[in-house]
Amino acid sequence: MSRFMNERYRDLHEYVPGEQPKERRYIKLNTNENPYPPSDAVIRAVREFDAGSLKLYPDPDASVLLKKIAETYGVNPENVIASNGSDDVLSMIFAAFGGNGAAFPDITYGFYTVFASLYDVKYTEIPLRSDYTISPDDYMNVGKLIVIANPNAPTGIALTTDEIERIVRSNPDSVVVIDEAYVDFGAQSAVPLTKKYDNLCVVMTFSKSRSLAGARLGFAVGNEALIRDLYKIKYSTNPYSVNSLTQAIGAAALDSREYYAKNCKKIGKTRDIFADKLRSLGFYVTPSLANFVFARHGTIGGKYLYRSLRQKGILVRRFDTPRIEEFLRITVGTEDDMETLYEALAGIISEAKGERT
Ligand SMILES: *Cc1c(COP(=O)(O)O)cnc(C)c1O
Repeated sequence: MSRFMNERYRDLHEYVPGEQPKERRYIKLNTNENPYPPSDAVIRAVREFDAGSLKLYPDPDASVLLKKIAETYGVNPENVIASNGSDDVLSMIFAAFGGNGAAFPDITYGFYTVFASLYDVKYTEIPLRSDYTISPDDYMNVGKLIVIANPNAPTGIALTTDEIERIVRSNPDSVVVIDEAYVDFGAQSAVPLTKKYDNLCVVMTFSKSRSLAGARLGFAVGNEALIRDLYKIKYSTNPYSVNSLTQAIGAAALDSREYYAKNCKKIGKTRDIFADKLRSLGFYVTPSLANFVFARHGTIGGKYLYRSLRQKGILVRRFDTPRIEEFLRITVGTEDDMETLYEALAGIISEAKGERT
């Protein structure tokens, strides 16, 4: 660290993204990317994009895209704000609504603690139950910004909208954020509840279910006043955060609902088959509704499995976090990817029976 770094940030622990390896080809199941390409409409939108228009700034409100998002989700454009990936809008949310502190599960998306620290938001981590589920009872009358990934990461376990509604209803004086990065793979969206509750904010991304992680596009849906607050932060940091090519791509993606729904369904099916195969190998697997599984072997340690897979050219994610250090988070890839991974795991396990490294 240079001597110029603001003291405020000296102890900040930044987010550590999953690896994007360049040195060799891996079967990459570590960052929850979608194994299938973006839709034909998206690919066409890229080809037909007028590169000459890049000399101009993009529409800061992304109006065409907002209109489409609003139509898709049955809300008004005033209820939506677009962002440079959903991390960007989550950042704005912590800045805007973290004034009275924040609360989120102890095991969840790693960025929440980073944003809280960055904006000096005091946070409480609410422990998951022993079966790694979120207990809605723990979120009654919290009186702080509540952030819940639904399905949760890295467990993949989802709350129902009834459970979410209970949480939202019992915290009328603070914002409840539902991060729906993985909702399209099988959980229920809380977007309809945003019409009923002015303290609910739903965050979504094009990175996972719409195969657009590289385009950087996310958005939030909520009550108009709440969205205006987020615009205030956006216009105080980076009004042009969503570039014009990404705006065009995002609009095209929303025209391909059937294609993406089909992919999500397929990924859900691959996930469930793979989870059962893991169980047959002696893994405990959480009931995931996301595009990843979260699994711990009965006898063989997580670090050993992670390293052995890496040597075989398969990348998965492991977190050095108390309670979950023996788990692997495995993105659901193509059927072939998962078959290769299954064979590799079966081999590692039969060779290393009983080992804990
Ligand atoms: C992937 C992910 C995000 C962020 O995705 P972006 O690529 O920034 O849109 C947000 N929340 C959770 C829980 C995620 O897993």
